Order: sequence, then C-alpha cells, then structure tokens
Amino acid sequence: MAELVNPQNTIAVLQKYQFHFQKKYGQNFLIDAHVLQKIMACAQITKQDFVLEIGPGIGTMTQFLCEHAKTVAAVEIDENLIPILQDTLKEYENVSVIHEDILKLDLLQLSEQKNGGKPIKVIANLPYYITTPIIMGLFENHVPMESITVMVQKEVADRMQAAPGTKDYGALSLAVQYYAKPQLIANVPPNCFMPRPKVGSAVIRLICYETPPVQTVNEDFMFRIIRASFNQRRKTLANSLHNAQNLSLSKEAIFESIEKMGLSLQIRGESLTLEQFAELANLLYKRIEQTDHEM
Ligand code: SAM
Repeated sequence: MAELVNPQNTIAVLQKYQFHFQKKYGQNFLIDAHVLQKIMACAQITKQDFVLEIGPGIGTMTQFLCEHAKTVAAVEIDENLIPILQDTLKEYENVSVIHEDILKLDLLQLSEQKNGGKPIKVIANLPYYITTPIIMGLFENHVPMESITVMVQKEVADRMQAAPGTKDYGALSLAVQYYAKPQLIANVPPNCFMPRPKVGSAVIRLICYETPPVQTVNEDFMFRIIRASFNQRRKTLANSLHNAQNLSLSKEAIFESIEKMGLSLQIRGESLTLEQFAELANLLYKRIEQTDHEM
C-alpha cells in the first residue's frame, strides 16, 4: 500500500493527474498520519464491517478502510477524482467507488444492497459546506448505522455535543443527541490538510442509538417544535412557538403545556433538555389531536 497520507505522496498523485482543487467541493485533503491513525483507532473497524466513506478524495483514508473493513463504498462527486481513485485503490477488491452526489444517493437502499440492512459504519473527512444536510440525511432517512466518525469544522463539533443553556446549544445539538451519543475525539489544526482550511477542525464520533433516548408521539412534530424554539433565540419559548407559522399553535395551548411541565412562562428554548422538548411536543401534539377530534 502506497501511503498517501503525507505531503510528498499527495503532491506526487496530484501532479501525476494534474489535479486542481475545487473550492466548491470543500476539498481539503488529509496529510497528517497521526490524525488518520486516530480516526482509524476510534472508528473500530473490523473485518465484519461495511463502511460508507463520504468524499474519498484521492483515497488516503479509503486505503486504510479497505485494509481493515470487509467492504467499503466510497462516494465521490468530483469526476476528476474517479480515475485517481481507480489507480490508488487498484490493489483492493473490497471497494466500490460510486461517482455521485452523496445528497442525491439513496443511502437506505445502498445499505440494504451492500449490507443486507445491517448497521453500517460511516467515516469521512466531510466537505464542510454540506456537513449538516449529510448528517441529518443519514439520521432522518433512518439509515441503519452503528456509528459515524467524521472530521467536521470545530464549531460544528461543538454544536453537536453542546449542553442546554450554552451558546452552542441549538437544533443541531438536539437532533444529533436524539439519534446518537457524541464523543469528541480530537481537535485538528489547519496544517494537517492540503490546502489548509480557514477554520479549525475536529474529529467527532457519533455512536448511534438503537432506540432514541426519549419517546415521541410524532418525531417530525418534535423537530418542528425544536426548530421553532431556536428560530428566535432571544424570545421566550412561548413567543417563539406562537410565532411559528408552520405550527399554528394557540397561546392558550402553549401556556397550558409549559405550565403543565412545571416550567416558567418566561423560559427560553435554549434551557430545555431533549427530554423536556419531547414532553412538550407530546403535550402539544395530543392537544392538537384533541381539538381536531372535537371539531
Ligand atoms: N477523504 C479525503 C481526505 O481526507 O483527504 C478528502 C476529504 S475533502 C474534505 C471532501 C471530499 O468530499 C472531496 O473529495 C470532495 O470532492 C468530496 N465531496 C464534496 N461534495 C460532495 C458530495 N456532495 N458528494 C460526494 N462527495 C463530495
């Protein structure tokens, strides 16, 4: 295996193919062996695993994944990287390179086809411009997953694992923590990449729950409540919910539910835990159902 994870070998591959980085695809290739080893160690890949890699680049991580996993699917959008990947991965028979936009691929179908619907492991040095849609797409489409180990912008890693009442806490924290237990693995400085990103990075591991830690009558409704609660951070929870046009909740229903939970009517969304959001959403949902029934 030609180790690509150092500046000289990466440059040699890029020159051989006269590859030019495309900013629009968030291309920052990993060139630090310690960071790569850390990702591999914490991802705990075994010869039983099917791994989905998002954005393999020139195949730096992919080579390691092929060595350690049973099978690997690597999804890359940039057509100029496909011939490079065919070259750098030619030794491996357990990898399929899929030339596609990850946001357009049916990942549920892919996991069914490649792994018989059993939980998969997702690994990536993510293109930062679409971190949230990628992560939320995996969760919301209920792709069966054991874990997601990803390099993301440091600020996004902070938001994913933030606790109630902190400045980073928001809809992303709650969404991630509903589906998985986040664990920060390492902070990664810009000089570990080529070219260097303008922001700091971090490796975060999300260990997916078999069943979510809270019960909801309607998951989609709970997330609409959560998003509405953070839309206007400076407003009270009651006002934010009342102002949300896609919810059409009456002040009366909102006040009654908040009070039933023993909370102050002045409370802001940012103070509520995931359990409290689930309880609030369940109370409001039952109330709407009741009203619909009476009409
Ligand atoms: N894994 C490589 C590494 O660590 O060196 C490259 C990581 S680079 C940060 C992100 C990769 O994602 C690039 O190869 C880029 O072309 C690819 N990418 C960007 N947008 C994508 C999309 N929508 N679907 C699939 N791949 C994408």
